[in-house]
Amino acid sequence: MTPTTVESASSDGPVPTAAGRQVSLSLTRRPARPARHLADLSSAERREAAVSLGQPAFRADQLSRHYFARLVDAAAGESMTDLPDRVREPLVAALLPRLLHPVTTLQCDDGRTRKTAWRTPDGALLESVIMRYPDRATVCVSSQAGCGMGCPFCATGQGGLTRNLSTAEIVDQVVHAARVLRRGEIAGGESRLSNVVFMGMGEPLANYGALTAALRRLIAPAPEGLGLSARGLTVSTVGLVPAMRRLAAEGLPVTLALSLHAPDDELRNELVPVNTRWPVAEVLGAAWEYAERTGRRISIEYALIDGVNDDLARADALAALLAGQLAHVNLIPLNPTGGSSWQASAPAGQRAFLRRLRDRGIATTVRDTRGREIAAACGQLAAEPRRTGPHTSASAGPAATVGDAPTGSRVLR
Ligand code: SAH
Ligand code: SF4
Repeated sequence: MTPTTVESASSDGPVPTAAGRQVSLSLTRRPARPARHLADLSSAERREAAVSLGQPAFRADQLSRHYFARLVDAAAGESMTDLPDRVREPLVAALLPRLLHPVTTLQCDDGRTRKTAWRTPDGALLESVIMRYPDRATVCVSSQAGCGMGCPFCATGQGGLTRNLSTAEIVDQVVHAARVLRRGEIAGGESRLSNVVFMGMGEPLANYGALTAALRRLIAPAPEGLGLSARGLTVSTVGLVPAMRRLAAEGLPVTLALSLHAPDDELRNELVPVNTRWPVAEVLGAAWEYAERTGRRISIEYALIDGVNDDLARADALAALLAGQLAHVNLIPLNPTGGSSWQASAPAGQRAFLRRLRDRGIATTVRDTRGREIAAACGQLAAEPRRTGPHTSASAGPAATVGDAPTGSRVLR
């Protein structure tokens, strides 16, 4: 893999990796700046912005209500009849600019899983995935365009980092999901967005400021924010220890998922290169501190890779590390990616690993592989440029190629 550079708000220095690569955590190139949007601003800042535009402060609350409560898509020209014609346009242009343009929309599971690839005005590509279940609706969002952490089994990591997303670019993926669910555009009829998982493209804790501001917007009641329950929000991290400690102190009781993938440093150095900076013992220490401070159970993510990390000795070592802690294990059969020949463990191997952990008293589940047919499953989000023509929508049939955008798909709209 070629050297990668992480653009981040962090002031940490370069991270040496097992392969001698440098994963730099410092801001080395000034990224294009996304337009300001009201979701970037606190309520007070929105009012100040309205006043600076020559409007009364309450206009900011009106706009916020349209965006966060009515879920209006102002950039698509949807109605906001309480705003006089002559003020609507400048206010919308200044505070509700279009941040994300849909490039492709793919769906599978009879329309219950939908992936959208987005392009920002400066050309960055990102993806988000809506998953409808009988009892909940989840959106998996990106926190960065690409990722600089270099995990070799992950399609996002294989492509490197483009740039951090802004707070509003993160929030807008969630608002879009809430909007299409409320309007019944996802199969199964009208529903409410209940969960947000930061498991799309990027390392959320490498974009700390935008992430935490986005979390606050998602939790704040309307019209300041979307009014989601903090319990429904999950931040998944590769294990950036200082940021994990900082998040624990934020007073945001969101669930933390830690992508562990190996119980020993030797293998984790290879699978998760930042492990050379923050090894297993340190990263788990920070996770337990998070659990203690927030009272939230840690989700330990473990991708099962055939012949690499799925031996029972590793299940035993993992169980020993987790014994007595507020944690559960989420096993993810590896999803295939173009840049790696690793495969998921065979079903019998998955079952044996699961049984071993459970026998050792560790709460363990196997994650479903939703969205594989449309390359929307964990680690498959790559927003490949070849799929970025004018906006297209397609639905994957049951025989769609795994790990690739389906060819010969049905066009929906
Ligand atoms: N950067 C964060 C969040 C995005 S990745 C993190 O790494 O935690 C979301 C989850 O998908 C992580 O648990 C990651 O390890 C997992 N993942 C990445 N590539 C995968 C793949 N090919 N198959 C299965 N899971 C994968
Ligand atoms: Fe980045 Fe997470 Fe993929 Fe690693 S697994 S490259 S941290 S998105």
